[in-house]
Amino acid sequence: MTSCVLCGIVTDSSKAPVVYEDDRVMAILLEEGVVSGHIRVFPKKHSQFIDEISEDLAEHLFLVANVSSSVLFEALGLGGTNIIMSNLASDDNSHMFIDVIPRRQDDGLNLQWEPKKLPEQDMIEAQNRIKDAAFMISYVAPKTKVVNLDEKKLPVMKEDKDNYLFKQLKRLP
Ligand SMILES: [Zn+2]
Repeated sequence: MTSCVLCGIVTDSSKAPVVYEDDRVMAILLEEGVVSGHIRVFPKKHSQFIDEISEDLAEHLFLVANVSSSVLFEALGLGGTNIIMSNLASDDNSHMFIDVIPRRQDDGLNLQWEPKKLPEQDMIEAQNRIKDAAFMISYVAPKTKVVNLDEKKLPVMKEDKDNYLFKQLKRLP
């Protein structure tokens, strides 16, 4: 696919500042990133969605993104990173990628969204629908020991300042 920017970089690596490359994955520094040190990691094979690539490649891709994050901590003395996966479907040439974004205190980047409290009924309905569909995860990851959620007493999702799960959910960017 010649009109895909990322495939173009795979073909000719002089088109972008490459920071890492192996036989399956590339990592480049974005010249027009959101901040200095913004890395984009992507599979060399053109793929639009993460579920189009093999499990093994997906694992490798996330490993490279994770280590790239550690490299940024080390090289730039960061306060944190955001790792964002993009499965774009905006046009025929969208090539999936993972952005690793350096974060510093007071960097002015706004990747936060306003938390919205869902009505309890919507929450229960969403939980049930997602839980019913989530059985497929055990087919994709057969070695996983799945916990039966119906037997395990789930914490009731109520606004509880001491509820660990709630704290974690609110902390997510
Ligand atoms: Zn591509």
